[in-house]
Amino acid sequence: MKRIAVLTSGGDAPGMNAAIRAVVRTGLGYGWEVCGVRHGYAGLIAGEMDPLSARDVGGVLQRGGTVLGSARSPEFETLEGREKALRSLNEHEVEALVVIGGNGSQTGACRLSEMGFPVVGVASTIDNDLVGSDITIGVDTALNIALEAIDRLKTTASSHHRAFLVEVMGRRCGYLALMAAIAGGAEAVALPEVETDPEALATELHAAYLRGKPHALVVVAEGATYNAEGLAAYFRDHKDRLGFDLRVTTLGHVQRGGAPGAFDRILATRLGGGATEALRRGESGVLVGDIQGEIRTTPLAEVVGKQKSLDPWLIKLAGVLAK
Ligand code: ATP
Repeated sequence: MKRIAVLTSGGDAPGMNAAIRAVVRTGLGYGWEVCGVRHGYAGLIAGEMDPLSARDVGGVLQRGGTVLGSARSPEFETLEGREKALRSLNEHEVEALVVIGGNGSQTGACRLSEMGFPVVGVASTIDNDLVGSDITIGVDTALNIALEAIDRLKTTASSHHRAFLVEVMGRRCGYLALMAAIAGGAEAVALPEVETDPEALATELHAAYLRGKPHALVVVAEGATYNAEGLAAYFRDHKDRLGFDLRVTTLGHVQRGGAPGAFDRILATRLGGGATEALRRGESGVLVGDIQGEIRTTPLAEVVGKQKSLDPWLIKLAGVLAK
């Protein structure tokens, strides 16, 4: 193999740059040329790619976001779009592609690999919804950012006897919300995996008020039955019953923007290095992930269209600890 390419796709995740750097430098180490594709699949279709040197990926390890840029490309979801992408890969004499991204991006990677092109995926999304990696790039940093916000909100909530609904990202997966609730000592959590009963939640908050809690913090996953605004609208109609004064904070993209912590830099470096190693072994059509502490590959066909489930024991534990 002489030339490979690497791209980042979907939502950016802190640590993506460390993964790009690892792919580039390990690829160069094998004597390959490594092209960086700009703006995800959109850039692939448009042929926006150039060879990267070891220097080109210097100074990026500690930066959040992705230096290659990312994009959502509806065109790549069509066969025509993917055929254009294949033509552009062939024109640039690229023999294999590394796709750093989440669920949607790995679905795209799988479709491309089904068309006969060698692709290896790297598990990268703050949602942690990818089957094939226990933990994905960006989750740890996003979680720490959410925790910092929760700690601060608790301080102000206690001073004013308030309840805060804090909405965290995660799409249809409640991993970030559940972990933020456990590590942040939240009074309650609303998850997409469990039907939210606003009436039960209101009763729970009122009970916390009667127990003398100075604050009540509810972590709400963006994909829960009711998002934070929806729950707040319900609670406003029942204000007298809650006891607490109510505020809503949506963390949104703040969670993505941080500099990657040590865990994500190391995970991304291991997975990036694992991707080029897999290609060198002749593997393709696989996702590189961390399974029980080891770098493993899982066929993309077994990854796409699946949703990682939450540990029911942890959901139960969160409820018990909230007392
Ligand atoms: P995150 O969940 O962290 O935001 P993601 O990779 O899941 O990241 P998506 O927006 O779902 O982000 O997907 C990114 C891109 O992957 C899409 O814009 C599209 O180009 C491609 N993609 C998604 N689904 C498919 C599909 N079914 N077939 C082909 N390509 C797809």
